[in-house]
Amino acid sequence: MSPSNSGDAINSQISWEPSLACLKFAIYAMLAGSFAALLALYIVAPGHPTRAIGPIVLVLVAMAGWSFLLRGRIRTAVIVLLIGSWMAVTGIAAFNGGVGAPVIVAYPMIVILVGLVISSRAAFAVAAVCVIAIVSFVLAESSGFLPSPPPIFPALRGVVHAIVLVLSATLAATFVRAYTDQLDELRVVSSELAQRTMEMDASRADLHRAQAVAKVGSWVYDLVTDTMHLSTEACRVFDVPEGTTGSYDTYLVRTHTEDRDAAAAAWRAALDGAALDYEHRILVGKTIRWVRLRAEVEFAPDGTPLRAVGVSQDITERKAAEEEIRRLAFYDSLTHLPNRRLLHDRLQQALVSSTRSGRKVALLFIDLDNFKTLNDTLGHDVGDKLLKKVAKRLTACVREGDTVARLGGDEFVVVLEDLNEDLYEAAAHTKSVAEKILATLGQPYDLAGHHCGSTPSIGIALFADDQTTIDDLMKRADVAMYQAKDAGRNTLRFFDPEMQAVVGARLALEADLRQGLAQGQLLLHFQAQVDGSGRVTGAEALVRWQHPQRGMVSPAEFIPLAEETGLILPLGDWVLTTACNQLVAWARQPATAHLTLAVNVSARQFRQPDFVTQARDILADSGADPRKLKLELTESTLLEDIEDIIAKMNDLKALGVSFSLDDFGTGYSSLSYLKRLPLDQLKIDQSFVRDILTDPNDVAIARTIVALAQSLGLSVIAEGVETEAQRELLANSGCHAYQGYLFAHPLPTEAFGELVRRA
Ligand code: C2E
Ligand code: MG
Ligand code: MG
Repeated sequence: MSPSNSGDAINSQISWEPSLACLKFAIYAMLAGSFAALLALYIVAPGHPTRAIGPIVLVLVAMAGWSFLLRGRIRTAVIVLLIGSWMAVTGIAAFNGGVGAPVIVAYPMIVILVGLVISSRAAFAVAAVCVIAIVSFVLAESSGFLPSPPPIFPALRGVVHAIVLVLSATLAATFVRAYTDQLDELRVVSSELAQRTMEMDASRADLHRAQAVAKVGSWVYDLVTDTMHLSTEACRVFDVPEGTTGSYDTYLVRTHTEDRDAAAAAWRAALDGAALDYEHRILVGKTIRWVRLRAEVEFAPDGTPLRAVGVSQDITERKAAEEEIRRLAFYDSLTHLPNRRLLHDRLQQALVSSTRSGRKVALLFIDLDNFKTLNDTLGHDVGDKLLKKVAKRLTACVREGDTVARLGGDEFVVVLEDLNEDLYEAAAHTKSVAEKILATLGQPYDLAGHHCGSTPSIGIALFADDQTTIDDLMKRADVAMYQAKDAGRNTLRFFDPEMQAVVGARLALEADLRQGLAQGQLLLHFQAQVDGSGRVTGAEALVRWQHPQRGMVSPAEFIPLAEETGLILPLGDWVLTTACNQLVAWARQPATAHLTLAVNVSARQFRQPDFVTQARDILADSGADPRKLKLELTESTLLEDIEDIIAKMNDLKALGVSFSLDDFGTGYSSLSYLKRLPLDQLKIDQSFVRDILTDPNDVAIARTIVALAQSLGLSVIAEGVETEAQRELLANSGCHAYQGYLFAHPLPTEAFGELVRRA
């Protein structure tokens, strides 16, 4: 409401009520007038007591008005006084000469007062009644009905006239004066009110502005009616339309779901008398606003909570600043990776949990080779770009729980947590991650148009015992990193010499194998598979590595390494190609044309999405008969994605290729899987054959496998058969196909050919 509006409204509401003093004066005047009239009557007409009725009535009316006044019923008092006066005047006139009575001059005064005090309509009514009274007096007088007025001295008559006139005029003047005084007073009050309203509006506007500047909204929450009243700023803070009033739930739903429980708990505590002060988030669009809410709950004397009066402050900026401070304190500003301080914290936690769980922690120190040269030649901008990209690539190399930090310059640290409890397993895993880092960081970089190469040197230390401190660990990794630099850079080194030796040997073997594969140092040996009558029905191809220095290396040594490094893929490819070529060579000779060839396929190899295509291409290129090719799978192949394996097996079977399950009984084959696999043969593992003569369990297992194979419609072959006694027992158990030293060792191509021809 604007100030001028409010002033008008007040003026229009003014209805005049006579003041108490004014009324009292009127009553005194009435009493005085009445007593004066009684006195006059007593002197002038002592023989006419009936004429005293009028003044006596006036005295009664004055007293009735007085009693209402005392009870505070001012309006009733006014009405009683006015009507009573009228009746008294009329009564006096009736006994004192009708219209000729001087008291008649009071009628206009009464009409005016009724108009002022009651309403204009009432004034009209009283005026009409006055006219009726006067007309009645005239009629009554002419018909002689009225008592004739007492004889009176003209002077006295004039005096009475004068008294009545003066009294009426005084009364009227008093009323009018009181009216105007009150009007003036009301005008002053209303202008003061308007002024105060203006001031209040201004201070309310100031408050709103101050709240908006401070981003603090105030509110009152009536706990009895569950209604919240919010200031304009509080509405903004809560992100509700201005002027919204509603239950607490209306605002609770504005609270971020994650903060609701805490908010509810804070309110519960506040209702028990605790101070209310908590921070919560609101979902404003897609961003989140932080709000601090502080309030006090007011209670009734009996402890009932009545209302909460509080403020809600938008603290988003403060939170952002805190976050920024945290970021500056704990993160590197260039790469946004954790800095040395946060790394220290994380390492501390990692070491504590490692001590508890026994799971190992590895620390990798990574320093970029020749970073200084790049920085000096291409400038710091390019150098910074490289560091950012390195940070990204490093982060991509590790798991989510691992830490990548930047110590400064071109030094980075990776912490691998939750590694295997076995130190060497942990070392092997760390090595593979470090190799991934070497490979990833070694990829070329496009730095604002500059194509650059950069390689890292990595030093690794493992946290192996709880005596090691963070500083020890950092120093060790640093020393190892310098060893990697000394070793020609772009490489990794373990701090622990023993560990270094183990991984070093593996590294050497891997490099050798890669080279051996390229230089044709691998060859296939063939081990005969015979039937119940001793006839050679085929062979198993077993790979051999003719190492220039180490001589013949067993596949048991290099196949696992090849699987780990992925070399198994080119190696397996070579084996399959060589085996198919061998089948073609055998097909040309009548003595060997009937031979089948079993080829071992590793799980990783078989899982290659294009394995079927590769095998089909090799078969087609070599011209080998697929029906002579048997693929040996191990149970580990079947552990993952059985549907895909079945599909691949079916595709290959459609070409004529058959399948044998190698090392059967040592893995975790589920019988339900076995039933679904399109296998042709089960191969009893040599571990059961070895002790079959002495261990009755092995006999039982062999028999069970035979029975299982029979029920599934598969053939059985036993491997590792070294003695005739073993063969006989196997034969008695129902197994009529064998492979083992009893018949032949794995032999080179020529020797195997000889064996078959001699038989
Ligand atoms: P495997 O497929 O179970 O091959 C049988 C292993 O038993 C061969 O060892 C073989 O020499 C050996 N053996 C055969 N008869 C006897 C016997 O009477 N007594 C004893 N004690 N051993 C016998 P090898 O050649 O050392 O191969 C070891 C493993 O290496 C193979 O086990 C196979 O899993 C893997 N392997 C060999 N060649 C390849 C290949 O080309 N590819 C793949 N993926 N794995 C291969
Ligand atoms: Mg095999
Ligand atoms: Mg085997």
